[in-house]
Amino acid sequence: MFAFSRDLRLSDHAGLAAAARHGDVVPVHVVDPVSAARLRRSPRRAAYYCAAVRALDADLRARGSALIVRRGNPGPALRALARATGASVVGWSCGYDAKSIRRDRDLQSMLEEAGLRALPVHDAPAVPPEDAAASHRTGDGYRAFVPYHARWRTLLPTADAGTAAFASVEIASEPLPVPEEFGSQASVAEPAGEAAARAKLTAFLAAPALQYGVARNVPAAGDTSRLSEALSFGTLAAREVVRAACERAEDPFLLVEERTSLKLYLRALAQRDFFLQLAWYNESLAEEPLQAKMRGFVFARAHAHLDAWRSGRTGYPLVDAGIRELRATGWMHPRLRAIAASFLCFDLGVDWRVGRDEWDHYLIEDDPALAAGNWQWVAGVGADLAAYPRIYNPLKQARRFDPTAQYVRRWIPELAALPDAAVLDPLVGRHERQLQLPLFGRASYPAPVVDHEAEARAFLARYAREVRTPA
Ligand SMILES: Cc1cc2nc3c(=O)[nH]c(=O)nc-3n(C[C@H](O)[C@H](O)[C@H](O)COP(=O)(O)OP(=O)(O)OC[C@H]3O[C@@H](n4cnc5c(N)ncnc54)[C@H](O)[C@@H]3O)c2cc1C
Repeated sequence: MFAFSRDLRLSDHAGLAAAARHGDVVPVHVVDPVSAARLRRSPRRAAYYCAAVRALDADLRARGSALIVRRGNPGPALRALARATGASVVGWSCGYDAKSIRRDRDLQSMLEEAGLRALPVHDAPAVPPEDAAASHRTGDGYRAFVPYHARWRTLLPTADAGTAAFASVEIASEPLPVPEEFGSQASVAEPAGEAAARAKLTAFLAAPALQYGVARNVPAAGDTSRLSEALSFGTLAAREVVRAACERAEDPFLLVEERTSLKLYLRALAQRDFFLQLAWYNESLAEEPLQAKMRGFVFARAHAHLDAWRSGRTGYPLVDAGIRELRATGWMHPRLRAIAASFLCFDLGVDWRVGRDEWDHYLIEDDPALAAGNWQWVAGVGADLAAYPRIYNPLKQARRFDPTAQYVRRWIPELAALPDAAVLDPLVGRHERQLQLPLFGRASYPAPVVDHEAEARAFLARYAREVRTPA
């Protein structure tokens, strides 16, 4: 028996292949309380997940099988199903955030107590944590990306995980999950499921991947792969993405920049594995700074301008454009995530956990381990060897990465009609425009809520006082 979770596909599936080594597989899916709580948090996430489960069920039906759905705690549900189907082995894919790790541990003991063989398998990362850690000195994973990446590159997955045959069982399924049961009225913007995810990967590798080096920094310059949702719900294997990108890089007709772009794309996938293994070996990552020296450094939980940040009205156009993109689509461009997160932590001095939890209400991705790792990294409390926090200047970032203000105009219509320089820095010519245009009334774009330069310097001074030279 195999219990699908955030691995909603049939091919290149490490867990499914492992279960299939014990005989024909009964495919089940338990809508458990941990996952249900996360689905209730983000309506678009719930819609995407339901569409991906539907696609998986359709793929199983095309192979003469069907998904057996249950709701509730996975232990009792899977035990009962194993009894009903005569299964002696129950496989599933490991989770990487602390709540999922605890749930998996409980599941394992409950199944083993019932005399069943529990088979948790690493499927989400392209390179399983233990494989990367095997030759590592401490044996408990990496805390710095550069050495991890050097090791990861030597472990790239070469072969498909294998295929499975499905048992024909006559057991009634509960209805497939629908968005409404998670309080969601949202619909999916594009098809979910394995075929759709693979088509997206193929289209990306055909051309946009060759410009990735620019697109990952310049939001208006082209497309990043936008595979985070598919990877998060496992409609596509990270192994497959890595293999396909490596194959693409073998094209002898690539230009140097195109080859570099593919290398950078592979590096992004390595970052995903890095943060997954970081969460795997550090279960407190979701709540506690990884760096011991930062555990006593207190960020604020509230700020007079927190709501301005939440709603994309800080008066810093690039920050606001990123947040508005997230709220409108359930996804934010990678560079914008770093800039908007930095603004919250350093310009407003607000705790990274507040920002992470806020975005969790909008993101389609369901990756608490990646969210925690990245937020800690931006806030300078996590896996980072930098001597000082990396504080982004949102105005300089705008001039550098959105020089013609194309991205800002797309998400901030209030600024669309202004000249480039004024869009990138709303203080430019503000006074004259105020006289000419009805732009700064109640519904208009706000003035900056804080002075970036002053806040950044104040933060660095406090950091130097409390962290660099502790009493
Ligand atoms: C503050 C902050 C919060 C973030 N929160 C999340 C989150 O909740 N969920 C999430 O999946 N990613 C998160 N990221 C990482 C990254 O921004 C997204 O994965 C990326 O924007 C997704 O877009 P894409 O698929 O086009 O990525 P691409 O640039 O095309 O990258 C390909 C894939 O590599 C992986 N990847 C790329 N960058 C990273 C990274 N820094 N860390 C981990 N994996 C990465 C993702 O799976 C991504 O789909 C966060 C980054 C920051 C700075």
